[in-house]
Amino acid sequence: MDQICITNLRFFARHGVFDFEREKGQYFVLSARLETDTRAAGMSDRLQESTSYAEVAEFLVDFLTQNTYQLLEAAAEQACRALLLRFPRIWGVELELKKPDAPIDLEFESVSVRIRRSWHTAYVALGSNLGDKEGYLRSALAGLEGDACIRLKRVSTLIATAPYGGVEQDDFLNGVCRLETLYTPEELLQVLHRLEGQAGRERKVRWGPRTLDLDILLYDNIIMYTKELTIPHADMHRRDFVLRPMAEIAPYVEHPVFHKSMLQLWQELEGTWS
Ligand code: AMP
Repeated sequence: MDQICITNLRFFARHGVFDFEREKGQYFVLSARLETDTRAAGMSDRLQESTSYAEVAEFLVDFLTQNTYQLLEAAAEQACRALLLRFPRIWGVELELKKPDAPIDLEFESVSVRIRRSWHTAYVALGSNLGDKEGYLRSALAGLEGDACIRLKRVSTLIATAPYGGVEQDDFLNGVCRLETLYTPEELLQVLHRLEGQAGRERKVRWGPRTLDLDILLYDNIIMYTKELTIPHADMHRRDFVLRPMAEIAPYVEHPVFHKSMLQLWQELEGTWS
């Protein structure tokens, strides 16, 4: 992606672990690479189509002087988050925060922390088969939309489907959505669990009835397998109620393990039934 760079911006602030650092303050030096698409501004020569580096520089300096952190890690983390929330055209940022006068009794040029943070694209499956199913799904979507670190981009048609897994129960209402998020997969899972909890979800029978079930299907192109999370979702390629809505909103998105599009996976699954 294109970059807009700000290099060695110097400002006075009070971050540090020691009391004297907070009392006296010291100079910090910040560099940022803003990942953004500059094509439209490049063709039109209009600032409205880009992000003003002056505005970004002032925003970062204001943020890092008005808030105080013990650690450079925290200062960098929170500054990146605030920046990505404030400037929607910036997809990612690499930020380096240097402390040239860090309290070290040795000769050195500076210490610094450098991190990269960005928005991520995720697909989430929604399902309910108890009570006001559509109400549960709509409140889950509202819950996602109401979270500052999530931008809900697209929601599929909600479809009624027969239950899965051989437990006798009511039909499901299912759908999927595409969102952009600043959360890691683990943090996103926590948000989903909180929303399930708010819908009164109790985890009793596997594949049993539930007011709300939220699963992460895809998260960027990552492949991960931990005790808590399998991404891509381990069963998504076997589930019509996932692939059908995915074929609607993301037909050409590729499954990072099977290297097949959602549409292709759905057609293959359909084929195994006919
Ligand atoms: P379930 O009862 O079907 O909602 O399963 C929930 C559990 O599955 C969660 O507590 C997660 O730790 C685990 N899990 C593994 N992979 C995923 C995923 N991709 N999305 C959501 N939950 C997952």
